Amino acid sequence: MSGNTVYISAGSNIGDRRENLTKAFKLLASENGIEMVAASRLYETEPVGVTDQPYFLNCVFSIRTAIEPGLLLERLKLIERAVGRKPGYVRWGRREIDLDILLYGDTIISNPRLTVPHPELMRRRFVLQPLVELCPEMVIPGTGISVREAAQVCSDRSSVVLFQKNILD
Ligand code: ATP
Ligand code: CA
Ligand code: CA
Repeated sequence: MSGNTVYISAGSNIGDRRENLTKAFKLLASENGIEMVAASRLYETEPVGVTDQPYFLNCVFSIRTAIEPGLLLERLKLIERAVGRKPGYVRWGRREIDLDILLYGDTIISNPRLTVPHPELMRRRFVLQPLVELCPEMVIPGTGISVREAAQVCSDRSSVVLFQKNILD
């Protein structure tokens, strides 16, 4: 398929976290115009920002798609709803599923609804660690440093522990 390689982070800390991630993976794979390329391993991660909440399971997916970024974000929100996320949660709070666009090819986007690369990418070990598995050499647009280097210099010390090797196990 033509289009762009896009990296999407997935996180869940309510309900059956593993099942929520698996559902999101399958729904994404079944979307028209989205080709699943790879999924990282699953990690159990300490909440960052709002720390008084359950630990998350996190992973990163890579896809190929020609769907433009704004529309892709809308599709991700529909998948979040389908997995069971209710509208109106606080930012960084607990949720059944969170799907964020980390990287969209080498595109840089900054508008009120969408910022790409994701603005917190460089500050979050729970995102960088799984992302390193998928694209260590990729230079993060606008930064001049690779994903591997970003993970090495990241000062986030929150725990990120391997939970499961394959999302479909
Ligand atoms: P964070 O974005 O810091 O991880 P969050 O995921 O908890 O926080 P949400 O409440 O899920 O935040 O989303 C708030 C809004 O962020 C979304 O409605 C969306 O418009 C916007 N947004 C901006 N950039 C992105 C991005 N790269 N991926 C997903 N949503 C984004
Ligand atoms: Ca998020
Ligand atoms: Ca989000």
